[in-house]
Amino acid sequence: MKVFKFGGASVNNVDRIKNLGILLQEYKAQKTIIVISAFGKTTNALEKLTDAFFDGNKEQAQLLFEQIKKQHLNFSNNLLVTHSLSCEAQLNTFFTELEWLLHDNPLRQYDYYYDQIVCVGELLSTTIISYYLNEIGIANKWVDVRDIIRTDNNFRDSSIDWEITNTHITKSILPLFEKTPFVIAQGFIGATDENESTTLGREGSDFTAAIFANLLNAESLTIWKDVPAIMNSDPKQFSDAKSIAHLNYSEIIEMAYYGAQVIHPKTIKPLQNKNIPLYVKCFLDPTLPGTIVDNHPVKNLPPIIVLKENQVMMELSSKDFSFVEEKPIAALFLLLEKLKLKPNLTQNGAISILCVLDDSKEKIETLASAAASQFEVKLTKGLTLLTVRHYTDELVSQLTAGKNILLQQKTIETVQTLMQ
Ligand code: ASP
Ligand code: MG
Repeated sequence: MKVFKFGGASVNNVDRIKNLGILLQEYKAQKTIIVISAFGKTTNALEKLTDAFFDGNKEQAQLLFEQIKKQHLNFSNNLLVTHSLSCEAQLNTFFTELEWLLHDNPLRQYDYYYDQIVCVGELLSTTIISYYLNEIGIANKWVDVRDIIRTDNNFRDSSIDWEITNTHITKSILPLFEKTPFVIAQGFIGATDENESTTLGREGSDFTAAIFANLLNAESLTIWKDVPAIMNSDPKQFSDAKSIAHLNYSEIIEMAYYGAQVIHPKTIKPLQNKNIPLYVKCFLDPTLPGTIVDNHPVKNLPPIIVLKENQVMMELSSKDFSFVEEKPIAALFLLLEKLKLKPNLTQNGAISILCVLDDSKEKIETLASAAASQFEVKLTKGLTLLTVRHYTDELVSQLTAGKNILLQQKTIETVQTLMQ
């Protein structure tokens, strides 16, 4: 058994979905569960729809809904001939569900509605792809992963109930493979025991794929991306970015932690626990070797560079100039947890705490005003955070040349520089 995961970029237009069909022809002989994200930027569009609905902006919500609907019907029309009507009927059941929800006025918390609305992206994309693949002779079964992945009701960042999910997989997924080589499932989404839809956090489809790999004791997980392999830096930022042929689980967890947009950070543990190799391969050219991630030691890694723009530094100092003690630090971290904000760097001083965060505007304002009851708060915006793993001092000086350095933290492996 294998697990494949295709992200939004691999299915962001009709040609890429056709390309997916060509790619899968090569793998027909093996039992594979295919986890797929929403098309392209659909999740962002659904987030906007959620905002409009929650703000009571019905017209805007309706408009955004129509756009999403039209886009998916277009995909379906362009891809399907014989299966077009049945696919549309299935899509319409999801549209109707969404429409019903949008008719109401929001009575519950935002995160609940977010999950009920945003989960539709994956349901729509997988429906179309499943019909398309069946039509071109790649036999597959579609599953509603909300019947499989059981979570708690911590909406937008739900935790998995592994035991129940495992039971569902044994009962409902394994028998499907007696009839078909491919099972198609949505990434990113799940459901509570009350059948409320949940999501696992943005980019969570990688994690879904790892859950399946773990519980199915898969021989491998392949994540198909638009880059040739995992690179030592983002090729959009550094033209000399290099592919890395081999990485191990710990290194990739570190990379994700420091913000490299490689793999969702929760993906690795379920693989590592069962020693399942992760392959990162290019869907545009499957003949490229890609990256293998396993538990073997890696030698001679190139420096790994992560550049995060749009950072804000929050400086909290005690109002009475006393030393910052544990209590306010604990209060700060509770607040961060509540707002689902993860600092990219923190540093404690005698009378201040520094905290570097992604500048997600509203959340930062909420955080700053909440913190203002206990601290003097100073925000510095528009900063860049550079992280280099396996650094050399020369490389760091080269990358920070001409910049105003506000803060630098070093360990033997990693140096982080906050700069303006
Ligand atoms: N569609 C979701 C997102 O864009 C999940 C994923 O792509 O992994 O975040
Ligand atoms: Mg994605």
